[in-house]
Amino acid sequence: VTGRAVAALGSALLILAAPAAVRALSARLINRDGPGEGFNDSTPVEPVGGNVGTTLGEQRLLVFQRAVDIWAAQFSSPVEVRIGATFDPLQCDAGSVTLGMAGPVAAFHDFAGAPLPRTLYPSALADSLAGIDLDPGADDIEAQFNSAFGTTCNFPGGWYYGFDGQIAAGDSDFLTVVLHELGHGLGFLSFVDIFTGARLTGENGQPLDDAFMPLVIDDRSGRTFVEMTDAERAAAIVATGHLKWDGASVVAASGVLRAGADGLGRVQLYAPPEPVDGSSLSHWSDVLVPNELMEPIFTQPIHVPGLANPALLDMGWRAAGIECAAGDCDGNAQVSIAELITAVRIALGEADLATCTAADVNGDGRVSVNELIAAVGAALNGCSG
Ligand SMILES: [Zn+2]
Repeated sequence: VTGRAVAALGSALLILAAPAAVRALSARLINRDGPGEGFNDSTPVEPVGGNVGTTLGEQRLLVFQRAVDIWAAQFSSPVEVRIGATFDPLQCDAGSVTLGMAGPVAAFHDFAGAPLPRTLYPSALADSLAGIDLDPGADDIEAQFNSAFGTTCNFPGGWYYGFDGQIAAGDSDFLTVVLHELGHGLGFLSFVDIFTGARLTGENGQPLDDAFMPLVIDDRSGRTFVEMTDAERAAAIVATGHLKWDGASVVAASGVLRAGADGLGRVQLYAPPEPVDGSSLSHWSDVLVPNELMEPIFTQPIHVPGLANPALLDMGWRAAGIECAAGDCDGNAQVSIAELITAVRIALGEADLATCTAADVNGDGRVSVNELIAAVGAALNGCSG
C-alpha cells in the first residue's frame, strides 16, 4: 500500500459568502471508470461476506461506499468531500504489488479560516476549515486501485470484497485498503520530500509547511518538522524509532497501543533506515501493536481508522457529533460573539436570514427569542458532543 502526494498547489482564496451550516461529514464517491471496466465491470459474481453485489463492479462499489461511510462517521464538516476513484492496472509482478494509491488532488494555504499561516492543508481539510469549497466542482481526493491484482498479474492472491474480513491466505481485504487510502486522502500524509527533507514550494517559489509537519518530531532533538532545516528533516525521516507523532489527540489515545508509543504517548512513524518512496514518514511504524490501519504494509483486515482518527483531529478535522443547537453560522461547532450579533440582527429584521440560517433552528423563516437564547447558551456552554 502506498500513499501518494499529488499536490497541485491552489492559490489563496478569500471568499466572503456565508456557508450553509451542515453538521456531519458528507462524502461522495465519484466513479471515474469507463463502461464495462473497474467499478463498472459486469462480470457476474456470487455474494461474499455480506457484500450482496451481483457483479464485480457492484461489489467493488459497495465496499468503497462502506469505507466512505466509515470515514464520514468520524468527522463533521460543512463541505462535501468529493472522492474520484478508479480501478486500473497498477504495478504488479510475481514479487510485489501496489494495491492502491490515493491522495489529495490539491492543497491550499492562507485561505480564510486556515489555522496556521504559510501551511498547506489537503483539499478536503482545507474546505472543512474554510467552511466553503475552495475549488468548487473539483475532486478533493483521487484514489486508484489495482485491477491487475488477482486477475492478470502473477502476484499470488487477489482482492477480497466481503465486509467481514474473512480473507483467504494471501488475499488482500479491499475494505481495509480503501479505508487506508482514504486516510491519506483526508490528510494523513506529508508533502515533505522524504529524500531531501525539502518542503513543497508555493506560487512564488517559497517553501511552505504542511499541516502534518507541526505534529512530527525527532525525539532526539524534540524539534518538530516546522522547526528543522531540510537536512534535519531528511535525517529524522530515516531515524528509526525516533520519528514520532506528537499531537494532543493521538497522545491522549495512545493507550490503545502495547508497542510503538513512548512514555509520553508519542507514537512512532514509519522511518526505515533507507527512505521508501510513498511509505516513509506518512505512515505509522510497522512496530505498532496492535496493528493500525495506517501502517505502510497490509497486515490484516482492519475496518476502523484507529489512531488515524485522532491524528486527523490533531491536523484540524472536527470530531463528529459535536453540534450547536443554534447560531453556529459557519458550522465550525462554536458560536462566536459575531455570530450572536448576526442572529440578533436577523431577529430585529436588520439582516437577512441567509446570513445565518443556523440561527433559525425550526426553519420557520424567522429567528425567535427562544432561538436567540439557544444560541447564547451554545456560546456560553459550548456545543453538545
Ligand atoms: Zn499508505
